Amino acid sequence: MFQESVSSFLDKKACVSNQKGYKEGLVDMVVRKVGCGSVWCSVCKKRVAYRMHRELEQLDWERARHIVLSYKRVDGEGGERLSGELNYERSVKEKHLNAFIRDLRREMEREGRVLGRGVWVREWHPDGYQHFHVIVETDNGDMIGNRLISKVWRRGFTDERYFKSKQHFQRVIGYVGKNGYFAGEKGHQGELPEWALSRKGGIRRYGYFGKEKDGKVKSYGLEDGSDDHETEKKPKMDRFKDMTYKQRHDACGSLSRVFLLVHQGKAGNDTDDAGDMVDMGEWDIPYNQWKEYSDRYQPRYGLIVSITNMEYIALADRYRLNPESDNLAG
Ligand SMILES: [Zn+2]
Repeated sequence: MFQESVSSFLDKKACVSNQKGYKEGLVDMVVRKVGCGSVWCSVCKKRVAYRMHRELEQLDWERARHIVLSYKRVDGEGGERLSGELNYERSVKEKHLNAFIRDLRREMEREGRVLGRGVWVREWHPDGYQHFHVIVETDNGDMIGNRLISKVWRRGFTDERYFKSKQHFQRVIGYVGKNGYFAGEKGHQGELPEWALSRKGGIRRYGYFGKEKDGKVKSYGLEDGSDDHETEKKPKMDRFKDMTYKQRHDACGSLSRVFLLVHQGKAGNDTDDAGDMVDMGEWDIPYNQWKEYSDRYQPRYGLIVSITNMEYIALADRYRLNPESDNLAG
């Protein structure tokens, strides 16, 4: 049934093509990677790195301070040693970061100072423990001071840094925008530790607070009053919902999304105006395999692949997922 509907569509196109002198029987497609969308995926992190950068670049570097908060490996009265996982769970349950921002703000206000908006980023130590980077605006750019910071964060090591110049600030946040973590250590900072890979999502990578927008103070991932603060939202795509991070990352790019290209130029040739895209859904063909087919890349569209109608039909018949949602049927 599916084959018929696509076939008749392509025949129709072929008719139009023939009238306009198109190469007969050739169809152009745009093929895109279906990413897993995880903020911790080494491939998909680009998007979250971009969003983090966008939040960071709004801060006034002259008033911004860079605070690092990490954890003692021993916690509690009895000197209990927590695993990185238990530490994470406890921090989310007890809202450690929330408390830090709230208490620091209060302490500063006591001294007649103001804690402004900020952005936080979660990173990892090689032993599976998290730490936080908090970039926050103050009223005047003066040191907040370790006396105050360590009074408010009693859970471990604290550090306060400043930005020497606009260039320095841009270099630091540029690194975040590119890699998703701050420079200075190794790549493991942005990679989930082993224990976290077996979890089914939910670990938030960054958030912001105190941001003013449309006359309201907005926060994301912090102080928003909801219970899932500091955690990542569940994946939108059903397919990934019940997967662990590891499974999800492994599945990243294993499917592709295919669009038929309906355009004015000749199929099989490059054209500035690539035309309209008709969504043909997800196909069970890894994106990398398409790349072996074609190296034609069109900005704004993606990888362009030209195959014959018959090849298209055969591939669609075999690899296209959920053809029942065919938007060309009927
Ligand atoms: Zn991914």
